[in-house]
Amino acid sequence: MEKKFETKAIRTQLERSKNLEHSVPLYLTSSFVFEDAEDMRASFAEEKERNIYSRYSNPNSNEFVTKVCQMEDAEAGFAFASGMAAVFSTLAALLDSGDHIISARNIFGSTHSLFNNFFPKWNISHSYFKIDDLASIEKLITPKTKILYAESPTNPGVDVLDLEALGVIAKKHKLILVIDNCFASPYLQQPIRFGADLVIHSGTKLMDGQGRVLAGITVGSADLIEKVYRFSRITGPALSPFNAWVLSKSLETLALRVDRHCENALKLAEYLENHEQVNWVKYPFLKSHPQYKVAKKQMKAGGCVVAFEVKGGVEAGQRFFNSIKLLSLSANLGDSRSIVTHPASTTHSKLSIEERAETGITDGMVRVSVGLEHIDDIIADIKQALG
Ligand SMILES: *Cc1c(COP(=O)(O)O)cnc(C)c1O
Repeated sequence: MEKKFETKAIRTQLERSKNLEHSVPLYLTSSFVFEDAEDMRASFAEEKERNIYSRYSNPNSNEFVTKVCQMEDAEAGFAFASGMAAVFSTLAALLDSGDHIISARNIFGSTHSLFNNFFPKWNISHSYFKIDDLASIEKLITPKTKILYAESPTNPGVDVLDLEALGVIAKKHKLILVIDNCFASPYLQQPIRFGADLVIHSGTKLMDGQGRVLAGITVGSADLIEKVYRFSRITGPALSPFNAWVLSKSLETLALRVDRHCENALKLAEYLENHEQVNWVKYPFLKSHPQYKVAKKQMKAGGCVVAFEVKGGVEAGQRFFNSIKLLSLSANLGDSRSIVTHPASTTHSKLSIEERAETGITDGMVRVSVGLEHIDDIIADIKQALG
């Protein structure tokens, strides 16, 4: 019988050391020793699978990768120092000069900057499709298109894209479907089941869940991950053993934590929907969400992020942020501490006003990462700040 998600997040078949430790210890070592000249030669010739140098692999990153592969139903993976290291290294490993990416318009701000400000240096171009018009994707395909890229739910607008539909398009046109699954976490959604070839996470968010470490990971088919690995072992974006160790422990409570995040977030979203100072609320598991049915089909619950707009424009927005007492004003998400962010002036400030408008980021928009404090206290703080 296939093991259940919670078990996959805890149990791995990795070898124990001679000490027979129960919990995987921290391997703070940059390199590993060879038994003799033949072992050294065979290791470098890659005739055996073993750790040589922590830029290539390390027992702690191996444990982390093993768990995420189990959770995402993936064949292989590589762990990175941050989510953006994962995004950059994965795409850079797969793309050649002249290649073309088709991406959803609504993506993480730094990924957008990567596509616009850096990939053109290597003659890698992109076209954006509108998330409410997946049919337009086929019209954007050129002979040079190699990758179809999307996030769901999106940051910060919590829009939901139909992963199954994207999988069908990618398969038909032999595109590599890459999904940034950071907002859902492996617990709520496994894109490979819907046809994704590669899944990327920022481990900094729900995976760590306590706002301590930066991390990223890419998992997927063995042949694509082999390319990602070849590129990454040379260019050096590897995750540190310490951060990998922290994350492996964090994953053991992922299901428990995310259940509570989602329960709290849905309660906050329902509260805000009835608040007279609020123009609109978006949360994937609210019936009013435009892609509610798709969210229900592909996600176990709605995630930790609620987006809403305060009535009264910039001024009212500033008053709201200045009145918040308990929640943190920060740019992170997926933390046990609830966080309120103003995307227009922070994470998405590098976008022009037109670009923000295209992705639904208005001046009065607030993004709440709903944490694990008691929901009554979270709602009380937001209530008093809305005035
Ligand atoms: C935060 C985030 C990233 C980048 O991750 P870092 O760990 O901050 O580098 C990528 N995609 C999404 C959707 C994110 O929220």
